[in-house]
Amino acid sequence: MNLNSKVTLLFAAVALGILVMLVAISLYAFRLFSINSSSAHVRTAAEVVRVHLTEAMIQGTIQHREQFLARLMEVQGLSVARVVRSPAVSQQFGDGLVRELPADEIERAVLADGRPRYELREVEGDTLFRGTIPFAATTEGTPNCLQCHNVPEGAVLGAVTMEMSITDLKERALLTVFGLVAVVALFTLLAVALVRRIMRPVGEAARDVEVAVQRALKGDFKSQISAYPDDEIGQIANDTNRLLSYLDGGLERITQRVSQLTGRSPLQDENKLEATIDMVNSLADASVFKQAIEEDETKAEIYDRFGQILSERFDVRSYSIYEASGAKQMMPIQVDGEAGAACRWCDPQILVRSEMCRAKRSGHPVDGLKQPGICYAFRPGDGQGHRHYCMPIIQSGSVGSVVQLVVPEQEAAHLIELTAFIHVYVREMAPVLEAKRLTETLRDSSLRDAMTGLNNRRFLEEYADTLIASARRRDISLAILVLDLDYFKVVNDTFGHDAGDAVLKALSGVLRQAVRASDMVIRFGGEEFLIVLQEATPEGAERVAENIRAAVEKLKVQVSGAVLQKTISIGLSMFPDDAETFWQAVKFADVALYRAKEQGRNRVVRFLPGMWEGHAESY
Ligand code: GH3
Ligand code: MG
Ligand code: MG
Repeated sequence: MNLNSKVTLLFAAVALGILVMLVAISLYAFRLFSINSSSAHVRTAAEVVRVHLTEAMIQGTIQHREQFLARLMEVQGLSVARVVRSPAVSQQFGDGLVRELPADEIERAVLADGRPRYELREVEGDTLFRGTIPFAATTEGTPNCLQCHNVPEGAVLGAVTMEMSITDLKERALLTVFGLVAVVALFTLLAVALVRRIMRPVGEAARDVEVAVQRALKGDFKSQISAYPDDEIGQIANDTNRLLSYLDGGLERITQRVSQLTGRSPLQDENKLEATIDMVNSLADASVFKQAIEEDETKAEIYDRFGQILSERFDVRSYSIYEASGAKQMMPIQVDGEAGAACRWCDPQILVRSEMCRAKRSGHPVDGLKQPGICYAFRPGDGQGHRHYCMPIIQSGSVGSVVQLVVPEQEAAHLIELTAFIHVYVREMAPVLEAKRLTETLRDSSLRDAMTGLNNRRFLEEYADTLIASARRRDISLAILVLDLDYFKVVNDTFGHDAGDAVLKALSGVLRQAVRASDMVIRFGGEEFLIVLQEATPEGAERVAENIRAAVEKLKVQVSGAVLQKTISIGLSMFPDDAETFWQAVKFADVALYRAKEQGRNRVVRFLPGMWEGHAESY
C-alpha cells in the first residue's frame, strides 16, 4: 500500500471514529434533553391540574373536571390526561368517576409510595412519553389540603397521568444529527483531498527513489527522480539525482578502465557493479599471482601455480600447457595437472610439427567453445563431447607456450564467461615466463660448453653437492673417469686448430654415446674430459672406460685432406671407495690418468692408493 493510500485510510479511520462518537454523544444528549423537557412539561401540566381541581372543589365545579382535562389535552399536545384518586380519598369521598380508579401498576405504585414515574415507549411507530405525578397532602397554601381531606400531611391524595408524543422532537433531533454528520463528513473529505494533494509529490518522490534504488541494486545508477517544486522534497530529489549521477559517472569510469585491463565488458543485462567488482577482484588476484610467480625460481613452478589457479579458481580440471622448443617442436609441460605427462587432448603430431597447433601457428586464441571443430589437432579421444579453448603465450614476439583449456560441452557456456579473466592471468604470466626463460638460457649457457654442447667444469662445481648427497642417500658408488687425448697438440700443429676442434666434437659424440643418460659427461678443460658414472662398480666402470678407449681408437675424423685417428688415456677412481671426498676422487682419477700417460698412453688405469704417494707433492 502506498503512502497516499495509507494517509487517506488513516484520515478516514479518524473521521469515522469522530463521527461515531459525535453521533453517539448527540443521540444521548438529545434523548436526555427530550426526557427532561417532556418531564418538565408533564410536571407543569400536573401542577395546573392540581391547582384547577383545588379551585374547582372550592367553587363547587368539581363535576366539570372531565371537560377541563379534555381541553388541557388540546392545549398541551397531550394524548392522555387522566386523574386517579387514592384509596384515602375514595374512602372519604367515594370512588368518584370510574376512570378515576388506578388503571395500571404504575399508577398504583405512585399512589402507594408518592414518587413520580416516567416512561418512554414506542407504539405503532410513535414515540410516547408518559409521566404519572402524585399529589401529596400539604398544609401550605390557602386553603390547605388538610382542611378538607381527612388524612395526615404528606399522604398521597391522587395522581395525574399525562402522555405525550415526542416523535416530532425525535425526528428533529435525528435530522440535526444527520446534518452534523454530513457537515463533518464533508469536512473530512475536503481534508483528505487536501492531504492527498500535499502528499502526492512525497509519494511520487518516494516511488521514484524506490525505483532508483532498485535499479542501483542491479548496478544501474542511470535513473533520475523527476523534478519537484522548491521545497524539502525537491531538495531531496535534487540531492538524490546528483548522488546517482556521481555514482553513475564513477562506475562508468571504473568499468571502462577495468574493461581495458581485463578485455571484458559487462553484458547488456548484467549487473554492471557486480561485473566490475568481479573484474577488479580478478585483477587483484592476478596481481597477487604475478607477485608470487616473480618469486618462483623456475618455469616449472610458474606452470604449477598457473595449473592450480585453473583448477581451483576457475574449476577447469582438464588443461594442457605446451612449450615451443626449437622451430617446429612442442613439449607437453603439464597435462591435467600432471607435469611432463603425455599429450592427451591433441593429436601428438603437434609435438613434432608445431604448426599443426592453430594457436601456435596463428598467435591468436583459438575458441573451440563457440566454434567446435575449429582446430583439427584437437582430439578429445575417449572424452567425446568436450570443447577446448587455446591461448598462445607470446614471448619475445613469438609463441613461447600454448595453454589449452578443455571442458565438457555442457560447461562451455560457463567457460566462455571466464576466458577474459584467464587471459588476465596469461598476460601477467607471459613477461615473467619470458624473464625466467632468458635467465635459464643464460644460466644454461654459462654451464655449457658451446663447441661440444657438453656441460663444463662450472656445472660440475655447482652440481657436485647434489650429486654427492644423492649418492650418499642412495648408498651408491660413483665412478670418475678423467680422459685426455694422446698427443693432441700434434693435430693442431699439423692440421690446424679447426681440425683439432673437429676431433674434439667427434670425441664428445663418442663419449655421450658410450654412457647412460643418467651419467654425466663434462668437458673439463681443453682436450680433457670427465665422466661420472652413477651406480657403478669398479669392474663395470673399467669396462665402460675400456669401451670408450676402444671406440676412440676406432674413431675416424675427416678433416681437410686427411682422416685422423687418435687414442685416449683414461684414469679411473671410485667415490667413496677410493677417497673421502668427491673432489679428492677426481684428483685420484687424474693421478691415474698421469700413470696411463706414463705407461705409454691409449690405456685405462684404475687408481691405486700407492699412486698418490709419488704424486702428492705435485698437487
Ligand atoms: P699428451 O696429452 O699425450 O701428453 O700430449 P698432448 O699433445 O695432448 O699434450 P697436452 O695434453 O698438454 O696438449 C693439450 C693441447 O690441446 C694444447 C692445446 O693446443 C690443445 N687444445 C686445448 N684445447 C683445445 C681446443 O679447444 N681446440 C683445439 N683445437 N685444441 C685445443
Ligand atoms: Mg691435456
Ligand atoms: Mg693430451
